[in-house]
Amino acid sequence: MCQVGEDYGESAPEGPPPRLSLEQKCVKCKGLPVLVIRAGDAFCRDCFKAFYIHKFRAMLGKNRLIFPGEKVLLAWSGGPSSSSMVWQVLEGLSQDSAKRLRFVPGVVYVDEGAVCGQSPEDRAHTLAEVKQILQTVGFPWHVVALEEVFCLPPSVLRCSAPKPAGAQGVYKAAVDGFLQQWHTLGAAGVGDSSSPALGEQQLSQPRTQSRAGAPTAAQTEALCRLFDSVRTLTAKEELLQTLRTHLIMHVARTHGYSKVMTGDSCTRLAIKLMTSLALGRGAFLAWDTGFSDERHGDVVVVRPMRDHTLKEVAFYNRLFAVPSVFTPAIDTKAPEKASIHRLMEAFMLRLQAQFPSTISTVYRTSEKLLKAPRDGCAPSVHCLLCMCTLDVDTADSATAFGAQTSRLSQMEPPAPPAEEPTTPCCSGGMCRTQGCSQGAGPCFREDPTAHVMEQLCYSCRVTMKDMPSLDPLPPYILVEAQTRSQRSFDMQEIQEYLLEDSDGEPDMSGS
Ligand SMILES: [Zn+2]
Ligand SMILES: [Zn+2]
Repeated sequence: MCQVGEDYGESAPEGPPPRLSLEQKCVKCKGLPVLVIRAGDAFCRDCFKAFYIHKFRAMLGKNRLIFPGEKVLLAWSGGPSSSSMVWQVLEGLSQDSAKRLRFVPGVVYVDEGAVCGQSPEDRAHTLAEVKQILQTVGFPWHVVALEEVFCLPPSVLRCSAPKPAGAQGVYKAAVDGFLQQWHTLGAAGVGDSSSPALGEQQLSQPRTQSRAGAPTAAQTEALCRLFDSVRTLTAKEELLQTLRTHLIMHVARTHGYSKVMTGDSCTRLAIKLMTSLALGRGAFLAWDTGFSDERHGDVVVVRPMRDHTLKEVAFYNRLFAVPSVFTPAIDTKAPEKASIHRLMEAFMLRLQAQFPSTISTVYRTSEKLLKAPRDGCAPSVHCLLCMCTLDVDTADSATAFGAQTSRLSQMEPPAPPAEEPTTPCCSGGMCRTQGCSQGAGPCFREDPTAHVMEQLCYSCRVTMKDMPSLDPLPPYILVEAQTRSQRSFDMQEIQEYLLEDSDGEPDMSGS
């Protein structure tokens, strides 16, 4: 699924560096070049800097999506691309008035050490480095541990209404609307929290740095139990991206950010496009790899580094001393064929080394993809995990997925797992279903797996098959699954009660 802040593993070389011959001159000023980014394109230091900055500005300018005064959350993984992005924003804010970037940035860093094999000491060391860089940058920042997914409210999985459609026309009105939305969202996001730990901490310091308390040992254990239960590395990588995205969305909403910027380079996006295809996400490629990703409704993800190659990022960071933090990724020690993600990355980078136009060809394809029109924002038609509009036509049994979907919604649910499932929805007073224990509704206790599965897109369904039990999942996912199931059950009840003579089934895409 798609994702915020993923530029891990970007140290992979993109083929041998081109030789710089003595006769070559800077393509812009004919001065002494210091690097060659493509065959023939030599740049001196200053011209490369101008070229690099221009690309970043052009990407933002071309798309005209970010308004003056808008709060933008920079998803920083510590890796080279997102570090370079943070530096581009820093650079843009220090420009003179004409060229100055006019949005209001903040930075979010997600500490994923627990699932990437870091010891508590390693994590503390990484966090110290992270904070030092954040203090140098000077933007408001939010450091959150991945463990905090266990405190997320179910509302994070609801697609909130996007900004008013007039946003492009009336610039001033759009900015005003944004400010209004900011206040509404800030309050709603926190109020709905089933556990106030994250929201409160952050709300108390809305404009400065926030670091919710270090995760408890129990939370770390729960997170490790979750990832240990997943059978394949491919599914682990997908789960990590999903949880990271939900967490970043929550931070964005509780702090009034209406855009999230990620540091995906064009190399990364080309790899991602091929990976998404292999994972059965063909219907969502435009959201997974395009400049903007509106699947979450009120918070839009943008990818301003998508014109920069990893090689350019590496050169820029070295020439201009952009600091980054090395952290192991979930697949750092894994062999090349351990996951679809690893395999696709190795394949693409190797192909690129032999055929230098590989990445750009794939990347150009991603630019041409169109997003299918969205019909409203009804929560029930979005995949519970990746939040994409469900590409499901339950009547369409011609496809394997259609058949699978209609079977799930019409037939008896599959046999429950052998061990007695614990009941996250019914424990700790979190269950919202009236009469759940009396069995009056579609009791989650009886078959949580079917309720979750029927709310997933094809790709997330495949991923979840590698998870033998849903018990270790964070409560917000299970609670939201139950809420949605209850809602569609209620709708069904009402339909039957009304005894309407409907020839077609009611729109129950989520059931
Ligand atoms: Zn030059
Ligand atoms: Zn999905």
